[in-house]
Amino acid sequence: MGAVDWFARAREAAFDGRALIDGVRRDAAGGETFVKASPIDGRTLGPVARGREADVDAAVKSARAAFADSRWAGKSPASRKKLLQRFADKILAARDELALLETLDMGKPIQYSLSVDVPSTARTIAWYAESIDKVYDEIAPTPASALALITREPMGVIGCIVPWNYPMIMAAWKLGPALATGNSVVLKPSEKSPYTALRLAELAVEAGIPPGVFNVVPGYGGEAGEALALHMDVDAIGFTGSTRVGRKMLEYAGRSNLKRVYNELGGKSAFVVFDDFANVERAAKAAAGSLFFNQGESCNAPSRVLVHESIAERFVEIVAAEAPKYAAADPLDAGTEMGALVDEGQLRTVMGYIEAGKREGARTVAGGSRAREASGGFYVEPTVFDRVDNGMTIAREEIFGPVMSVIRFKTEAEAIALANASSYGLQASVWSDNVNRAHRVARALRAGTVHVNQYDEDDITVPFGGYKQSGNGRDKSLHALDKYTELKTTWLRIEPE
Ligand code: NAD
Repeated sequence: MGAVDWFARAREAAFDGRALIDGVRRDAAGGETFVKASPIDGRTLGPVARGREADVDAAVKSARAAFADSRWAGKSPASRKKLLQRFADKILAARDELALLETLDMGKPIQYSLSVDVPSTARTIAWYAESIDKVYDEIAPTPASALALITREPMGVIGCIVPWNYPMIMAAWKLGPALATGNSVVLKPSEKSPYTALRLAELAVEAGIPPGVFNVVPGYGGEAGEALALHMDVDAIGFTGSTRVGRKMLEYAGRSNLKRVYNELGGKSAFVVFDDFANVERAAKAAAGSLFFNQGESCNAPSRVLVHESIAERFVEIVAAEAPKYAAADPLDAGTEMGALVDEGQLRTVMGYIEAGKREGARTVAGGSRAREASGGFYVEPTVFDRVDNGMTIAREEIFGPVMSVIRFKTEAEAIALANASSYGLQASVWSDNVNRAHRVARALRAGTVHVNQYDEDDITVPFGGYKQSGNGRDKSLHALDKYTELKTTWLRIEPE
């Protein structure tokens, strides 16, 4: 079989931006649409339903009806498992189509949509499917006169609001545990990347998941998103996005029905390299690879690289030489490592941070400019700043673009203090060949995930989430099942004979 011509496929691709409510595609109640342009070249992809309160309400009603009549929650765990496995199989079977939609929608390289986003989405759904007939409830060690059952029950209707950087994977991290435990879901994808969520919901219906169990309402955050988070009949919100909007989620819950809010928010992750780590080249290449992956649009990107002053020159030399290997290119080209930023707004934001870095005195050692402007798309050069101070804007705020800040330190205590001097606490890493130091520093770092001597190890079996203003929830692993279930205690009296 010859190589796929993704450019030809892109020209022929079809886009259906209608909502999916109660198992069927439909236009927004008010008939409104918004225009979705591709970040690759600015080309218009197709109209997307502009969901508002009425659409969200219809989706929540459908989800509630599905929950109330037990068409999904009432199935045995083994039956739900089977249908979710079929859903995962359908995702894999639609690999090319989903990967192309993801790339055209948000600009990531097609090779990674194919090798990371689609398989990871399918694996997440399959993993929760497989887990759900293997989790047991509890019996409490009470006196013999009673029996206390501690059981988990689905909550009801879960609202999921997700970002655009990994549209399918972020949705799957919520769908997997929420659906496996028997809930109904209303998903609001980002207005910047709506197509794959809509297609996923269609595949779920084709797999036999009953109508109403999984609904998708596209639309803007301040319209469809706000309506979902404020809805009185939504039991929990699984949110992934910025810390700014995460704050609003808590307000919406307070202003409505005190629904549970699980926030998975931003990051400014520290990557700490000590002078006792012998393989400086491996550490530097890992920093570049992890930071430039997905155009730097990763919540856990190692955007603050803390390097011991004695190896900093060598380290910076290597990352500066690595950066051009990630030069922005057309994401439809199968060899592209780094694609386009999601839209013009994100491009402006990232360029604003690059300008701030220059203005505040950081030294540009790679990139620093917009790229491929003639394409009509939104590209930035992989950029590395050296001699960054942890107080500078580029070290404090999440950039969400391909911009690395190298900060030098002298002592272990200083490195820990700098790493923890952030309002975020999503991820961190420590690089040291001294096992005592590696453990010591890993314990001291205030982050939900700490890596030692590597950065990108990842699996659905482990929790993912942040300390501090990076959020309060944990996606992935069996722990995520707790988020979408209520804990019930049932006391039974046992009479003596
Ligand atoms: P965002 O907060 O702007 O939007 C996220 C979602 O919220 C979108 O669907 C958006 O439409 C919606 N939204 C926006 N305003 C809203 C409102 N007022 N009411 C209800 N919904 C609203 O974030 P983004 O730009 O889409 O994504 C980037 C952010 O996501 C970054 O901060 C990144 O770190 C974070 N992120 C975190 C994780 C994690 O697991 N911690 C993973 C991926 C991305």
